[in-house]
Amino acid sequence: MPQLVEIFHSIQGEGVFVGVPTIFVRFGGCDLRCAWCDSPETWTVRPECRSEVESGTGEFVSVLNPVTVDWIEERVRALAGPATPAVSLTGGEPLLQAEAVAELAARLRRAGHAIHLETHGLAVEALDGVLPHCDAVAMDWKLTSDVRRESDPRGTPAAPFDEAHVRFLARVAKSDAAVFVKIVVTASTTQAELEKAARLVGEAAPGTALVLQPVTPFASVREGPRVPELLAAALACQRWLADVRVIPQTHRLYGAL
Ligand code: SF4
Repeated sequence: MPQLVEIFHSIQGEGVFVGVPTIFVRFGGCDLRCAWCDSPETWTVRPECRSEVESGTGEFVSVLNPVTVDWIEERVRALAGPATPAVSLTGGEPLLQAEAVAELAARLRRAGHAIHLETHGLAVEALDGVLPHCDAVAMDWKLTSDVRRESDPRGTPAAPFDEAHVRFLARVAKSDAAVFVKIVVTASTTQAELEKAARLVGEAAPGTALVLQPVTPFASVREGPRVPELLAAALACQRWLADVRVIPQTHRLYGAL
């Protein structure tokens, strides 16, 4: 049964769908520890989750975990009202609960919602059951300079994530789902790391859009990358991909959830 963090209705603040009204279903649990993660409350499964009471109000009620797919579907219907906004299945890492995510995605899609999966892009085997029910996949590309596995949060990863990312992206690219790749860029991210990622994305799925997302200062992250470096990195990535964009988190600008 699904373990959730929250359900709410807001406006997409990241990636190529920025500005699109979206209902977010945030699943609990994550097997990574990104240095700049702005939602550490999603890392572990909690005894309770919360559901927004009324669309866009930011008022929530608490509910015990685990919940049911029926209950999530009912909450999405209540928040959507007569509309059928996009639904983002996010986390944490939603593919750690692939069976529930697949069932929910299938039901919501039948009801007319576009299904957007937001994932760290590493759970390759879990993807297969979910992918047929997705309209779009927002895939993070994790740089090993900033990201560790949950099992070794301080150490050096045993291997870069590149190989798993390439396999993941290649599978999505063969499906009917749209895909874009997002990389969070910090003040210490190097152009070489970004250019290598862009090359691998271009080789695995040439038409993929790449979003460079300057990190939003949070917790121990005090500053983001400078504009000249961002611009230079974007231009370097364009050697490998035609569609490269720099898009910050916009929901933070106007206080949206
Ligand atoms: S994958 Fe997402 S939820 Fe997990 S640590 Fe990284 S940013 Fe946070």
